[in-house]
Amino acid sequence: MNSFSNLKYLICAALVFFFLIGCLKSNPNGKIEQGKKTILDPHSFAQTNSVLVKHLKLALEVNFSEQILKGWAEWIIGANTNDTLILDTRDLKISAVFLDNDSNLTPFSLGQKDSILGEALIIPIHKNTQKVKIVYQTSVQAAALQWLNPSQTKGKHLPFLYTQSQAILARSWIPCMDSPGIKFTYDAEIKVPANLMALMSAENDTALHSNGVYHFSMPYPIPSYLMALAVGNLQYKSLGKNCGVYSEPETIKEAAYEFADMEKMVDAASSLYGPYVWGKYDVVVMPPSFPFGGMENPRLTFATPTIITHDRSLVALIAHELAHSWSGNLVTNKIWDDFWLNEGFTVYFENRIMENLYGKEYADMHEIIGYGELKKALHDMGETNPNTALKQNLKGMDPDNAVNDIAYEKGRFFLLHIEKTVGRAKWDAFLKEYFAHYQFQSISTEDFLVFLNEKIICGNQELASKINAKAWIHEAGLPANFPTTNSKLLDEAKQTALTFSKGEPAISESTINWHTFQWLHFLRNLPKKLTATQLTNLDHYFHFTTSNNSEILCDWFQLVIQNNYKPAYPAMEKFLTTVGRRKFIQPLYTLMKTTGQTELALKIYKNAKPGYHQVSSHTIDQILVSE
Ligand SMILES: [Zn+2]
Repeated sequence: MNSFSNLKYLICAALVFFFLIGCLKSNPNGKIEQGKKTILDPHSFAQTNSVLVKHLKLALEVNFSEQILKGWAEWIIGANTNDTLILDTRDLKISAVFLDNDSNLTPFSLGQKDSILGEALIIPIHKNTQKVKIVYQTSVQAAALQWLNPSQTKGKHLPFLYTQSQAILARSWIPCMDSPGIKFTYDAEIKVPANLMALMSAENDTALHSNGVYHFSMPYPIPSYLMALAVGNLQYKSLGKNCGVYSEPETIKEAAYEFADMEKMVDAASSLYGPYVWGKYDVVVMPPSFPFGGMENPRLTFATPTIITHDRSLVALIAHELAHSWSGNLVTNKIWDDFWLNEGFTVYFENRIMENLYGKEYADMHEIIGYGELKKALHDMGETNPNTALKQNLKGMDPDNAVNDIAYEKGRFFLLHIEKTVGRAKWDAFLKEYFAHYQFQSISTEDFLVFLNEKIICGNQELASKINAKAWIHEAGLPANFPTTNSKLLDEAKQTALTFSKGEPAISESTINWHTFQWLHFLRNLPKKLTATQLTNLDHYFHFTTSNNSEILCDWFQLVIQNNYKPAYPAMEKFLTTVGRRKFIQPLYTLMKTTGQTELALKIYKNAKPGYHQVSSHTIDQILVSE
């Protein structure tokens, strides 16, 4: 086994080498040097840029009884100016490595284990090596994999497996260059039990294969964090000319109803910022333990079932994941420090899709709710905290820590601010050109700024100071030139909350047709301290405790915990043990802890943890277990 210092030497030697070839303007794949400055990824061992991979062939068998994936990954080398290939791994058991053909066994070594990055897989290769095949299996603690027993699924009689690779978990199921700056195409053969269907972030079949063998192809280059696999009892339903939904048979009808506007969303997105290039757009409904709202795996968004409310009120999430087909999947953040390029653009784009479909009043509410969430994040993190700048410095940290409203909402408002400064027509033309210019590339914040200067600012100093990009990107808190929005619908909700808090009944005719955003605004404008009678009245009028809407439930349960409103505790406990979406469970556990209810939180968490993905349980461990 190589020591870490040897590995550092290898990386340093490679850096010097690449610096030299960088000076000569050599560019191995022609795509990762936008901005003319090579940026190294602090979250990957495989950042030498002297050996690049261009295609992956993957063959894995899914073993539910042992909870492992077993098989091989073969990397086709794209550019090679060095004699060592370094891949990222985490908890993988590597049994053999072959160069070019299966008779050419080669030695390999693993670097020292890092708690965040895992282990470097170091493979000596030759200048003319074209293929490197790694035979391996995953371990039971593989962080990307969530194995669910039948009782954790809707149907209750078959198991389920799904992956979550973002940000740096792909390395726990595939040895790879696990950096968003490296893109590759892939083919895969996945073998599963004959009664289950396998799906990937690729071209998928819509029918069950009786032999349990599925073949996949992703002909467009993607980064490793978009590698995805789901295996379960799944059914498909078409929702239009080029889109559809997969889910367990028990939920396929309600999922199809909920996502009925998907085709219109794809059309709206394409009309805004250029054609949808990935072929089909499908969504697969995950089991409730899925840690995120959605994951934008190309061609196949993974979505939480918590958006199925039977009234289509939370479908903005689909618009968000669809928007990632441009911002994130087509034009990708080069390293995780530039995460706002993925998420800020996507929240902005999501709301443009929603405005196109549902009108300006909807979009205004979306902005105001987002602004409230941004203010809360700034309050919690501290307005002068350097981590509230858009450009992050995540070296030495888990990039998952940057998944907060700074990247999403501050990023969105920066783009909205530019739109309002230069006018929508000019801004839309810019974005269309941006996606076309950088398609299938990974870019940095600096690349974006260069393009902005070139296409929008064009040397106009007055405009540059109005946009004030530096303040948004490099400074903490919110710049003074923050765009504001008004919404009559939300004003009404706020007024109702104020009336109620003065002791008058809140019930009124108009609340019958309130949108989710209005309910959230109402709940967020109630006083933090409420009496038991007030809470009983609220529940009596509005039936919050029995709501189908997880966004409303999450806000309601926060009031419940703050005020120790016991009648709603059984429902809160049930919510926490059936839903694993981090956005919802994180504030509830945090609040239990800060209000002296840690014992109860630990008791609930003990039961709930087996149903959470590691992305969520890692966060809850940090809240409840570590000090
Ligand atoms: Zn997103």
